[in-house]
Order: sequence, then C-alpha cells, then structure tokens
Amino acid sequence: MAVLIDGNSLAAQIREEVREEVNALTSTRGITPGLNLLLVGEDPASAVYVRNKGKDCEKVGIQSTILRLPETASEQEVLDVVHAWNADNSVHGILVQLPLPKHINEHRVINAISPLKDVDGFHPESAGKVMIGLDGFIPCTPHGVLEMLRRYNIETSGKHAVIVGRSNIVGKPLAILLAQKRTPGNATVTICHTGTPDIAQYTRTADILISAVGHHGVITKDHVKPGAVVIDVGINRITLPDGTTKLVGDVLFDEVEPIAQAITPVPGGVGPMTRAMLLRNTLKAAQAVGGQL
Ligand code: NAP
Repeated sequence: MAVLIDGNSLAAQIREEVREEVNALTSTRGITPGLNLLLVGEDPASAVYVRNKGKDCEKVGIQSTILRLPETASEQEVLDVVHAWNADNSVHGILVQLPLPKHINEHRVINAISPLKDVDGFHPESAGKVMIGLDGFIPCTPHGVLEMLRRYNIETSGKHAVIVGRSNIVGKPLAILLAQKRTPGNATVTICHTGTPDIAQYTRTADILISAVGHHGVITKDHVKPGAVVIDVGINRITLPDGTTKLVGDVLFDEVEPIAQAITPVPGGVGPMTRAMLLRNTLKAAQAVGGQL
C-alpha cells in the first residue's frame, strides 16, 4: 500500500501558515496583501476557478477583487486593466485567468503584468528566474508539487525524476526546478512528451514519476517502477457507464497505487496545493513591498 500524499491537508496547513504571516504583515507594517483577478468571458470552469481563488483569499485575510469583462472585451481593454493594477499600490498580485478569448494575445497580456505582481509566475522574467535559480515567483502547480515532496520528506537528490508533459506552466518549470542544485532538487530529470517514442521505457526507470498530460490512463502500472513516487498533476473529467461524470487524473490510480511507494490522489492531490501556492505567492509579493523579491 502506497503512502497517500494528502494535498487537502497539506494545503490546509499552508493556508494556516499564510494566515499567520498575513496577520503579522498587517500588524507590523500595516500591509494587507491584495490579489486582483481578471476574468474575461463566460467560460464556466474559469468562473469557478476564479471564484474559488477569491474564497481562498478570504480564508487567510488576503483582500481579493474579481473583475469580469465580457467575451467581447478588446485586448486593449484587458491591457488597460493590467496597467491600472500595476500602478495601484494596494494590489500586490495580479492574476489574469487563462485561457483568454481567442482574439486576445495571451503573451502580450502576461508580459504586461508587472513582474513584481506576477503571482501566477507566468511572466518571462519569472520563468527566467526559475531557469537560473534566482528567487522569484514559481508557477503555482510546480511550486505545489515541490512543497508536497518537501513536506513528505521525499528524497529527490540523486534520484531519477521523469516528467510526462512539457507545458510552460507545469512540465518545463518542474523539470528545471527538480534539476536545480537545491532541496528539493538535484535530481536527474527526463522530460517525455508526444515526440517521445514509447514513454514507458523512460517512466519505468523513474524514482519519481510526475504526469502532467491531461489524458486519463496515460500512466498505467506498466509505466511505473515498483516503489516509485507518483505525482498526478492531470485533471480529467470522464463519463461513467451510468452517465455521471467524475474527476480523475492521468494515472490509473487503482492499479498503480499497490506498487507505488507514495501517490497523489485526484481530486485532493496537486489541485489544492496549486491553490495554496497562489496564496503563498501573493503573500510573498506583499512582503516584498519596499524591498526586493
Ligand atoms: P498542456 O499544456 O496541454 O500540456 C500537456 C503536455 O502533455 C504537452 O507537453 C503534451 O506534449 C504532453 N502529452 C500529451 N499527450 C501525451 C502523451 N500521450 N504522451 C506523452 N505526452 C503527452 O497541459 P498542462 O497545462 O501542462 O496541464 C496538464 C494537465 O494537468 C491537464 O490535465 C491540466 O488540467 C492539469 N493541471 C492541473 C493542475 C492542478 O492544479 N492539479 C494545474 C495545471 C494543470 P506536446 O508538448 O508534445 O504536445
């Protein structure tokens, strides 16, 4: 039986730590961290994500403001909002919910966010800092995965970490972070993607296997070395034979769990950690006011 890596309880711990630090920041320096969230369009999933992020903020004493713009908003309108928030000292973190409507260039919008307020960690400056090992905003999902490994005392140094998926927000930053000479890190890292013939020949050699693909069943027991740590970033909605739907990961949990050393569930694994790290990043942005990141 594998150790179940409980993202819900770790996230609750992190929220409590953030709440205490927010109180301390407010009482010692008079700063209440503020996160502004921009939602463009009517995508129901995005609306739920943004609402939940706002609720998380409330729990820890972070001031949050949600602005909704219609699907028809122009790129310039979105940029104007970002510029206004960049200039507003009460706003410490800015989050533009992705995806944006197709007529808006995401890169231009992300580039417009002040790197000092880039709590999602998607700005090229944040990505560059991750790459060269400088302190900055780590994107929330990779940050959450690192925190899980750290808090469960999972050794990464000298281990082989295999990451399936190379997106700019999950796979690539995770690969870089795990290869950095620090803790957690110092791993030998392999990245697999759609150009990798037979991913199993790589995943089967992983001490730590991380899947960030977005297809249920991409990781079966035949992809996993017995005793490996398995982190499932994927979130997929499947329809069951009775017509109901269910959230699942990339990993076939029931067959992989018995052979793994430790494994994350979906839901209740990486997802809550991602949300918790957004709070941590917002706190960090507020703490950095008047100093340096
Ligand atoms: P993405 O941008 O779509 O990237 C998916 C990656 O998986 C791509 O690099 C793709 O390769 C690779 N891939 C797809 N099919 C593959 C296959 N059969 N074999 C090997 N590699 C394959 O997705 P993402 O944003 O990184 O998200 C990945 C998953 O994590 C999604 O399910 C998403 O919902 C979930 N997610 C969860 C959280 C959380 O908090 N838990 C946060 C973010 C994302 P190519 O580059 O070659 O196309």
